[in-house]
Amino acid sequence: MPTSKISPYDVIIIGAGVNGCCSAYTLRQGGMRVALVDQEGIAAGGSGAAGAFISPKISKAGELKEIIHQAQAEALDFYTSFFPKYTLVRPLLHIANSSKEGEKVESFKRETDLKHSHLPHKIETMLSDEA
Ligand SMILES: Cc1cc2nc3c(=O)[nH]c(=O)nc-3n(C[C@H](O)[C@H](O)[C@H](O)COP(=O)(O)OP(=O)(O)OC[C@H]3O[C@@H](n4cnc5c(N)ncnc54)[C@H](O)[C@@H]3O)c2cc1C
Repeated sequence: MPTSKISPYDVIIIGAGVNGCCSAYTLRQGGMRVALVDQEGIAAGGSGAAGAFISPKISKAGELKEIIHQAQAEALDFYTSFFPKYTLVRPLLHIANSSKEGEKVESFKRETDLKHSHLPHKIETMLSDEA
C-alpha cells in the first residue's frame, strides 16, 4: 500500500528538554502542528537535573547580558503566570569572590533595572573576610 508523503506535522522537535518543550508550546500556541520526540522521555537530560533557579547574569553591559536579561524576565513572567503555585520569587544574595568580580557586581548594579539593595549588616557579619 502506498504511504502518504504528507506529514501531519509542520514541525518536528527532537529533544523534550526545557528548550524543546518551550519551543513546542510556543509553536503550538501559534497554530502549528508540532511533534515532540525524545529518545528517553520528557526532561531526561539537563532539564531533569537542573536546580530550577532563574537568576540574573551578573556581568558588565553587553549584548549577551541583554539577551540573558530578557530571557530571565520572560521566564519569570512565564512561570509566575502559568505555575504560580510552584514559583517562588526571592531575593538573591550574590557574593563576589574576588575584587574583579566585585567590580562586575558594582557595574551591574549601576545599570540594572532589577530592584537591588545593600546587604543588611546582620548578614554581612556572617560572611568570611574572603567574601
Ligand atoms: C546539575 C545541573 C543543574 C542545573 N541547574 C540549573 C539551574 O538551576 N538553572 C538554570 O537555568 N540552568 C541549570 N542547569 C542548566 C540547564 O539544565 C540546561 O541549560 C537546560 O536544561 C538545557 O535544556 P535543553 O532543552 O537545551 O537540553 P536537555 O534538557 O538536555 O534536553 C535535551 C533532550 O534531547 C534528548 N535527545 C538528545 N539527543 C537525542 C536524539 N538523537 N534523539 C531524540 N532525543 C534526543 C535528550 O534525551 C534530552 O531529553 C543545570 C544543569 C545541570 C546539569
